Amino acid sequence: MSKFLGFSCSLCDREYGPNEIIYTCPKDGGNLDIVYNFSSLKQDVSSDMIINSPEESLWRYLPLLPVNQVHGRETPLQAAGWTPIFSPPALREQLGLQSLWVKDESRNPTASFKDRASAVVVARALEIGVEVVVTASTGNAGAALAGMAAAAGQKAVIFAPRTAPPAKIAQLLIYGAEVLLVDGNYDQAFDLSILAANEFGWYCRNTGYNPFTLEGKKTAALEIWECLINRRSFESPLAVFVSVGDGNIISGLHKGFKDLQALDWLAEMPRIFGVQAEGSAAVANAFSAGVEEISPVAAETLADSISVDLPRDGVRAVRAASQTGGAYLTVSDAEILAAIADLGRVGIFAEPAGAAAYAGLHKALKQAIIGSEDPVLVFNTGSGLKDVNAAMQAVAPAVIIEPTLRAVEQALDLSD
Ligand SMILES: *Cc1c(COP(=O)(O)O)cnc(C)c1O
Ligand SMILES: [Zn+2]
Repeated sequence: MSKFLGFSCSLCDREYGPNEIIYTCPKDGGNLDIVYNFSSLKQDVSSDMIINSPEESLWRYLPLLPVNQVHGRETPLQAAGWTPIFSPPALREQLGLQSLWVKDESRNPTASFKDRASAVVVARALEIGVEVVVTASTGNAGAALAGMAAAAGQKAVIFAPRTAPPAKIAQLLIYGAEVLLVDGNYDQAFDLSILAANEFGWYCRNTGYNPFTLEGKKTAALEIWECLINRRSFESPLAVFVSVGDGNIISGLHKGFKDLQALDWLAEMPRIFGVQAEGSAAVANAFSAGVEEISPVAAETLADSISVDLPRDGVRAVRAASQTGGAYLTVSDAEILAAIADLGRVGIFAEPAGAAAYAGLHKALKQAIIGSEDPVLVFNTGSGLKDVNAAMQAVAPAVIIEPTLRAVEQALDLSD
């Protein structure tokens, strides 16, 4: 019997067969969870099999993914996931935390967390034999899809807001995608991409719409389990901090940990903390109101990757915190810029959305939501090279000098 049984609606719990449906629940538009046959998985897969896998990518978790073979050997598809986990002493000291880890997703092939989702969606697209994949994106999801599709020899069409940072647009173009810059925001690009996908018969990767993105994103939770939780014993549950836009990454992390519990490989559920920009806080608003319904906002933040009016995976994103003893925090653009500088000083270059999680951790410590003995892992979800403009706002400008030794002395205050 196959491991991939089908889909289950996150709103009404209705179940669908694996070939019965493509995107969301036809009854209520709810996001779909992929359902596994855990009793057969428990017989066929052991944690040792995974831990001893030679794959240095997210494909080491193939037995726990809804596709059938490792995709993209000898291409960048092979390099998605399996990102490093650092524990910079200077950050631990700065925050006064005994145990702090940073999982650096900027090390993915297109330099953001989105590669995990796109690798699995492209694998699914290959298995169901579609020719064109499409996505709406603030930039990173598009870059990831364009890069992964290029690696797999697939055609990609990307809808991005025309205001997306130039580096992200450059990635789309360089990877050879059809790039449509929408004179509107991400939410408008999102709606248009679905209309176009339906009209032209393309396979749509959209975040919080295609159920396979979540499965790719859950692999980060599997890595945290394998590299951290499984190798030590924590006195209190690990607290995981991640930034939230559509809410698909945080929901994916939750799903990954839930799958591990269903396999009996994870004793204690980590606490999951979502961080949103103050100006784009629809999920955080719902969380603090104690509801799951998401009311749209008019998003305004320099962290473009988490600038979303209506988060498309908001319900599951609220649950990721509420069902694990986590919480939501909001941070200002100024706090995000300060976090970029803090991470930079230990050698980690984050884009604004990537650094937002660290800014949220800072706040959680100040508000005593996290204590100095709590073990914490914080994500950097994207590379600072994606948005150099924002990075330059986080630091003082470089000095320009005359080409003389005297000028060096003056600039560096070395003269006596
Ligand atoms: C997409 C993205 C996020 C947020 O992920 P969601 O699934 O939209 O919540 C955070 N950081 C970066 C760098 C991203 O590209
Ligand atoms: Zn439903």
